[in-house]
Amino acid sequence: MFDLIEAKSILKEEVAKFVQEIVVDKVKEIEETDEFPWYMAEHFFKRGYLTLLIPKKYGGFGGSIMDFCTVVEEISKYSASLGLLIIVHTTGILPIILFGNEKQKRLFLGDICNNHHLIGFAITEPKAGSDVGSIQMIAKSKGKNYILNGKKSFVTNGGVSHLYSTFAKTNPRRGKRGLTTFVVPADADGIVVGKKDDKIGMRGIPSTSLSFKDVEVPNTNIIGRKGQGFLVAMETLNRSRPAIGAQSVGIAEAALELAVLFAMKRRQFGKPIAKLEGMQFILADMAASVDAARSLVYKAAYYLDHNHPNATKLSAMSKFFCSDMAMKVTVDAVQVFGGYGCLKSRPLERLMRDAKITQIYEGTNQIQRFVTAEQIIKEHLKTYDRYFRKELEEMEWE
Ligand SMILES: Cc1cc2nc3c(=O)[nH]c(=O)nc-3n(C[C@H](O)[C@H](O)[C@H](O)COP(=O)(O)OP(=O)(O)OC[C@H]3O[C@@H](n4cnc5c(N)ncnc54)[C@H](O)[C@@H]3O)c2cc1C
Repeated sequence: MFDLIEAKSILKEEVAKFVQEIVVDKVKEIEETDEFPWYMAEHFFKRGYLTLLIPKKYGGFGGSIMDFCTVVEEISKYSASLGLLIIVHTTGILPIILFGNEKQKRLFLGDICNNHHLIGFAITEPKAGSDVGSIQMIAKSKGKNYILNGKKSFVTNGGVSHLYSTFAKTNPRRGKRGLTTFVVPADADGIVVGKKDDKIGMRGIPSTSLSFKDVEVPNTNIIGRKGQGFLVAMETLNRSRPAIGAQSVGIAEAALELAVLFAMKRRQFGKPIAKLEGMQFILADMAASVDAARSLVYKAAYYLDHNHPNATKLSAMSKFFCSDMAMKVTVDAVQVFGGYGCLKSRPLERLMRDAKITQIYEGTNQIQRFVTAEQIIKEHLKTYDRYFRKELEEMEWE
């Protein structure tokens, strides 16, 4: 475990240096213009942050989920939007890494690494969000192609991606078991990118709808097997959700540091407010929450990197726990700032807006609690302690 912390800190230091040199000066501009930062994507590609999980043999960074979370946490401390750029692109890549065949890996992963092409992950539809099984996009077989018709919504990096990993029903009668994953080039005839959503947070990273009208995709672009799309989506999101946790930790760390610095500077009743017991309780709770959440993220990452049987549970827990934590910590930081926290010119309101989104995307926190509960119910059958089992066996209804 010590080796891991050591390795993580070397990467963390590298990212931190890059952030200070390149990122910090651009954060306000990204927020204010809401324009996609192409130059930053190029920096990220050159440093390997947009190929983190792609094996070296395809030209990628060859890293782990631990590396993914480390990079996202450090960057999100300064810009959660830039953290999202990395997360969603990696989410688009994951189906190919996990389920793609060798030819597809060489083609798509090679394209991403060599041509610095972005990939999006398009699963949500206007009428299908949490309920992935109710997806309406249809893929009909026609000779060597499939014809895709339907609409996706909230596609992050919509309009700036060159490829999309997307999901359509090849057998509509089979519900979620009728879903299939396709990689679709963004310039395929029949794809129409909708207007950019005017979001409350994550400014600078666009989300749009994508309409598919008779879009022809070769059969060879099916990732995994026909009907395996739900599994592909779940295995993908299992690995990207801890990165949402890491993004949330980054946001909360920023709020904590700002709150402590402000509390040391701001004087009331003849002393810094940081010396007032009521304020200290808030700051202490914030600090403990951030550290506890960070531990959960890296435990989830470790479990995923080592195929631990409880990885799904840890992944879901890290997502909902850290994003709820970030929401609370950013709101508490506004409280510490008092009236100054309510000014738009202060960074806290951005942190609060960004934190809210982390509770919603990549599966809402209600869904993550559902996944966690299902896992712990399964687990109790196998692993819970014999002592407690016996207690329950001997229990009588009185
Ligand atoms: C900024 C942003 C970026 C996004 N990027 C992408 C992207 O790149 N690709 C993509 O495919 N999607 C993306 N999304 C979509 C996102 O993943 C969905 O918004 C999310 O999964 C929720 O779906 P929904 O909005 O349809 O809400 P719904 O599923 O309609 O849920 C509405 C409410 O009902 C609750 N709810 C639903 N079902 C249950 C249940 N069984 N039990 C308890 N409560 C329940 C939810 O928790 C939520 O509070 C993005 C969203 C945002 C805001």
